[in-house]
Amino acid sequence: MQASVVIAGGGIIGSAVAYCLAERGWRDVCVVDLDLAGIYASSELNAGGVRATWWQPVNIETCRQTLDFFRERRAQFGFRERGYLWLYDDPEQLRIAREKQRVQNAQGLGVELLGPDEIAAHCPLLDSHLEEIVGATWSPRDGLINPNAVRAFYRSEAEALGVRFLNRHYVDGVETVRVPGESGTRRVRAIDVIEVEGVDAADASGALRAILTSHRIDRARRRRETRIECEILVNCLGAWSTVFSGKLGIRDVTEAVRRQICLVGFERSALPQGFDFDALGMVVDASDLYFHPEGGHVLAGYSIPEEAPGFDFAYDGADFFETFIWPRLAHRASAFERCGHVRGWSGLYAVTPDCSGIAGPVPGIANLFEAHSFTGRGVMQSFGVARALAERIVDGVSTSCDLAPLGRQRFATRESWLPESLHI
Ligand SMILES: Cc1cc2nc3c(=O)[nH]c(=O)nc-3n(C[C@H](O)[C@H](O)[C@H](O)COP(=O)(O)OP(=O)(O)OC[C@H]3O[C@@H](n4cnc5c(N)ncnc54)[C@H](O)[C@@H]3O)c2cc1C
Repeated sequence: MQASVVIAGGGIIGSAVAYCLAERGWRDVCVVDLDLAGIYASSELNAGGVRATWWQPVNIETCRQTLDFFRERRAQFGFRERGYLWLYDDPEQLRIAREKQRVQNAQGLGVELLGPDEIAAHCPLLDSHLEEIVGATWSPRDGLINPNAVRAFYRSEAEALGVRFLNRHYVDGVETVRVPGESGTRRVRAIDVIEVEGVDAADASGALRAILTSHRIDRARRRRETRIECEILVNCLGAWSTVFSGKLGIRDVTEAVRRQICLVGFERSALPQGFDFDALGMVVDASDLYFHPEGGHVLAGYSIPEEAPGFDFAYDGADFFETFIWPRLAHRASAFERCGHVRGWSGLYAVTPDCSGIAGPVPGIANLFEAHSFTGRGVMQSFGVARALAERIVDGVSTSCDLAPLGRQRFATRESWLPESLHI
């Protein structure tokens, strides 16, 4: 089999890259994924928050472009421009937020600072322990989205333009050859793919999970092995990007870290009178809890700081809710003193040392590109990054946004890291 471009991984990033390549006229593109339904893919398991209010100009720019793209298709993507309200109890963090507000507003984000006494008026739901809060930021152009609708759009548009999506195909190996006359440079010639059988869509047998946590496939599930030759390969394997890089002898910096979120039921009669909970956007509490309305419930998440890296999909259920979610919700909003765990899930963050993603060409391998490790930002960064990467691949230069700062070479020296700290 052959394709001009092979994209390993068909999550929101791989699908966006396929769409942007096809839009630029590159049709002989093949996306390979073990499970295009993505039941363990971060793209299916995230919180649906989208914002451009980051610290690093390249993250602000790619997210701003993505949000503009979402805004143009607001109904199709379920984009609700309801803002992010971010509370601070640390004066130093607030000082930095004030400093970053200037960078963010230079890009038209319209971020406002709220004093402690303005918070209850802005959001009457937050009525408890506000004396701890030293200030807040309100970014009205941020909001919430249906990430599945976005990924479905990228994929169906790409397919309509001729991109092939291979489901139940596991990228197992990669063959490289030396580039004559360029010492130390290799190029990818082909990838080796295993077609998997005996796996059902809901993964009742746990076979998909086993593959994605052990990175091995039982002999009994191997249907066929195929080699796909390609001119260009793009690594969009999300939290699994490192497993692939390892096969090329590239030592990666990304770690897969479990993140849990849950749906919380509450009594509407406990809400402040006249408060329209369903019109709320994202609230990020000073305790690092985040929440927003979701289909009549609260969707709430919290990243346990001591979570060890690993390919772990266990969800701690009511324990997670009782230990981490409920105390924080009730601490800030009396309406949530009585609330209950409905259900929840866990997914993987692909975390880099500076909490910014990795995108661009891979040094030392002439025709290998990558876009992965977007921590908690992959949905909101998808279009901006994918468009710039497609430009780089097709035209040799990214014109919509300079992706160079996101290149992996930045990890060679700490000075070129892109630290993001407002990270949930
Ligand atoms: C709990 C949680 C909350 C989040 N909240 C937000 C949020 O509010 N906003 C936001 O923007 N982002 C959020 N994120 C992050 C966001 O979901 C990710 O950054 C994004 O989905 C990453 O997309 P991806 O395409 O890189 O990876 P994935 O969606 O993980 O896709 C990778 C794909 O690779 C496939 N794969 C892996 N190994 C192989 C192999 N060897 N062969 C073939 N296929 C393979 C997998 O099947 C998968 O489909 C959240 C993430 C989590 C876990």
